[in-house]
Amino acid sequence: MNESLEALLIEYKRYKGLHLNINMSRGQPCKEQLDLSMPLLDVLDSSSSLISEDGFDCRNYGVLTGLEECKKLFGDILKINPKNIIIRGNSSLSIMFDCISHAMTHGILGYTPWMKLEKPVKWLCPVPGYDRHFAITEYFGIEMINIPMKEDGPDMDLIEDLIQDDSVKGVWCVPQYSNPSGITYSDEVVRRFARLKPAAKDFRIYWDDAYAAHHLYEANRDSLSNILEECEKAGNPDLVYHFVSTSKITFPGSGVSLIASSEANIQEIMKRMKYQIISFDKINQLRHVRFFHDAEGVEAHMKKHAAILRPKFELAEQILQEELQGLAEWSKPKGGYFICLYVHGHAKEVIQRCRECGIILTDAGCAFPYHKDPDNSVIRIAPSCPSLEELEKAMKILCLSVKIETKQ
Ligand code: PMP
Repeated sequence: MNESLEALLIEYKRYKGLHLNINMSRGQPCKEQLDLSMPLLDVLDSSSSLISEDGFDCRNYGVLTGLEECKKLFGDILKINPKNIIIRGNSSLSIMFDCISHAMTHGILGYTPWMKLEKPVKWLCPVPGYDRHFAITEYFGIEMINIPMKEDGPDMDLIEDLIQDDSVKGVWCVPQYSNPSGITYSDEVVRRFARLKPAAKDFRIYWDDAYAAHHLYEANRDSLSNILEECEKAGNPDLVYHFVSTSKITFPGSGVSLIASSEANIQEIMKRMKYQIISFDKINQLRHVRFFHDAEGVEAHMKKHAAILRPKFELAEQILQEELQGLAEWSKPKGGYFICLYVHGHAKEVIQRCRECGIILTDAGCAFPYHKDPDNSVIRIAPSCPSLEELEKAMKILCLSVKIETKQ
């Protein structure tokens, strides 16, 4: 803690001489995690029956909204009626993009397409948040408004106030083990979301449950209320689009994704799907169902992920604790893929300093709309990919960089 700047810079120079190349910029599963899903490739071969439980030949076109057994599997995990689920392709982000694209050109449930509105569409963005969400809304020219995150979810007072404006058409949410803050929304926050009465009837909550099954601990885990159920109870059944994928359960980019919503929303999505595609990859859906069997199968698989990830999160947190106590704050997530480090006023400089030492972190500002972190504070740490040995070096360099920058 009391090292002089000179001593810190000498240590930094020594690390620089190691010519490291450690990428912690994206929350990707490491090789050992990917290996866990290799048997997925063995559950089907040329001698397997590719007939679904209700008799469809999965080798052919058809079953536009997904295999029933696949809907049932995810319905069991998420406690959602399978009739409210559509299984799609390999990416939940692309479903989110599609929902917004449709709202722009055709409008939601008969309301004016957003591109025909006179006033610009506005969007609520809990921050820090997921850069790819913000990239989608920015792509469509939607005006994004920062919503501060509290310990139990976004600032609901502010959201309740802002939705009185009928230009506000949506809110991004990562409700469990949020990317990157690690926060899980409390029951009360979920209830308040479900009870929202937005001025815009085509306002939707974009509920990206990407980390629904991604607990680090068996007993000490967060739990999330069922938003669809809460919306139904509140008399707001159409308010939410719930997205999930197996990207960080099996293979990112080769998994299965879904959208769950009210009957009216599902009907509308089905109508446009007829123009978009004849059939998604049912063989992959079948493969996932036969690999997992049921919700317990997914749970058992996720425990294996946790066994690999937990030591990495614990090591990163231990180093932060040893090195940065009193200098910075950080999240202590019980799941998900990220640790959020808050270095008030120094993020950009710390990230640059790390980069010069071969440690690649996500760019400063990435967790904010338009890449603008108003406090230059948030650093997203993704500890999953490096080995423990690499992670130790990377975290030490990160902490050293924070110490140097806060002394200057
Ligand atoms: N949402 C969140 C919050 C994520 O963190 C990620 C992956 N990093 C995704 C969506 C991407 O999902 P998919 O691969 O299903 O498009």
